[in-house]
Amino acid sequence: MTAEPVSGVIGTMRSMTTEQAEPSIFTRIVQREIPATIVHETANVIAFQDIAPKAPVHLLVVPKTQEYANVVELAAGNPGLLAEVVDVANRIAHDPELMTSSDGEKFPIGQFRLIFNTGEAVGQTVFHVHAHVMAGNLQEGSLA
Ligand code: AMP
Repeated sequence: MTAEPVSGVIGTMRSMTTEQAEPSIFTRIVQREIPATIVHETANVIAFQDIAPKAPVHLLVVPKTQEYANVVELAAGNPGLLAEVVDVANRIAHDPELMTSSDGEKFPIGQFRLIFNTGEAVGQTVFHVHAHVMAGNLQEGSLA
């Protein structure tokens, strides 16, 4: 007789837990649930092509954990992981193939722009910390 209300409560608790743990789009890339052009991967970090590039070279470097929403949280919570993100950005910027535009233009090795959008008001749309690695004829005096 009392079994039904109890199982209803447990069901609600389970669905809340599932909602709280909802994977970000980048976690789904890490887990190969959605496709991406992955260019580098370590135990803790993954790098892939941005799906909507805003520069001739536009890659994303992402900690595999979605525990940190932005770079401020990452720096406070795990500075070593932030250093690993920067190291992976530098490594991919030393790959001549990745420092080439889709039409074959080559850009200087090891020179790149590293952007962490932090907050909706400056354009952050994915709240799983990620670094944009950009290169290719970017203008001095412009951050776009
Ligand atoms: P932000 O605006 O700083 O949060 O950056 C999010 C970036 O993720 C944007 O540049 C998007 O183009 C990129 N992005 C969103 N979904 C995907 C995806 N499925 N694969 C690759 N890049 C993505």
